[in-house]
Amino acid sequence: MKSSAWIDKADKYIMKTYGRYPLVPVKGEGCYLWDADGKKYLDFLAGVAVNNLGHCHPAVTAALAKQAGELIHCSNYYHIPQQIELAELLCTHSFADKAFFCNSGAEANEAAIKLARRYSREKHGADRYEIITAISSFHGRTMATVSATGQEKVQKFFDPLLHGFRHVPFNDVAALKAAISPCTCAIMLEPIQGEGGVVVPDATYFQEVRQLCNENGLLLIFDEVQVGMGRTGKLFAHEHFGITPDIMTLAKALAGGAPIGTMLATDEIAAAFVPGTHGSTFGGNPLVTAAGVATVRTILEDGILNRTEEMGEYLLGELEALQKKFSFITDVRGIGLMIGVELSIPGADIVKKALERGLLLNCAQEKVLRFVPPLIVSKQEVDEMLAILTGILEEIK
Ligand code: PLP
Repeated sequence: MKSSAWIDKADKYIMKTYGRYPLVPVKGEGCYLWDADGKKYLDFLAGVAVNNLGHCHPAVTAALAKQAGELIHCSNYYHIPQQIELAELLCTHSFADKAFFCNSGAEANEAAIKLARRYSREKHGADRYEIITAISSFHGRTMATVSATGQEKVQKFFDPLLHGFRHVPFNDVAALKAAISPCTCAIMLEPIQGEGGVVVPDATYFQEVRQLCNENGLLLIFDEVQVGMGRTGKLFAHEHFGITPDIMTLAKALAGGAPIGTMLATDEIAAAFVPGTHGSTFGGNPLVTAAGVATVRTILEDGILNRTEEMGEYLLGELEALQKKFSFITDVRGIGLMIGVELSIPGADIVKKALERGLLLNCAQEKVLRFVPPLIVSKQEVDEMLAILTGILEEIK
């Protein structure tokens, strides 16, 4: 069926929660997608930082195919070897001791919010439940994560929101300090704000946040749903800042495109969850965790992290060179292959023109072009993207 016929059918049957581009991808390989009409696209969005290993990475595809032939789903009433293996991999490569599995980033953050509240309730009593998060943050679309998110447009008309969240400016230690009260139980932050427009905090910010948490007996929760899994050139983005959280959430790229989320915590905090306190039917089922094991092993063993750092530096440098050429580029920032280009003009037209020329890009907060290509991207593919982008920028200058 042609793309236009699919789009007509989508209009009839799919709820309008997204303003979708007129693109119907049906096949992917590495950094490329093909649509239903056979047109090829260079993908610098990667399913919004999901396809970190590119489309249909052979290791992930093989793990999914093998597992699909053995056991797709059982129940968390039983022990699941692939889930246990993935938990071991994540815990041995992080601060964490225990993992809980679910199906998305929002659910991972829900789990983190629930665990923080339960732990604090047991340790400090009923009055400590409030979680401080950042303005312009994004934590998901469930009611608790919408309440945690610091963006009015995400919350509009869904009130009453969940009680117990307070929002402060990101990268502002004084504001955080002022917001702490006897009710505070945790601080929840993205190490780099993604949907907020690729906002990288000062180098010392998180060290001061960690210290504030230690001094006040607060839990530090890192939402690494978008920036984790090698995106910044380290397995977890907080490794750049020389501190560890108490709880961390992951999702997006964790299983190479299979839907998964996880919440990791230290033993002491994880102990607040006991049988019956939290769960998920599909969470960490054999199929997705087999894909997760293949994904994490590939990221760790195939030199992906070094490559991400190298390609990230190259792309950042080239984008900085574009900034010198085009006055409407006001800032270029990022770590690894999580890069934002801030404009003084809306970015929607650039994204639209890029799509027409076979390049998938994204714009966050209306004026920040976001570059989150697969981490396996080659220099040649980066150059191909830059050639298309430069052509578009020349036209609009
Ligand atoms: N947290 C962050 C930082 C995100 O970027 C996102 C999604 O973009 C989420 C949470 C929500 O993840 P999901 O869409 O898988 O629920």
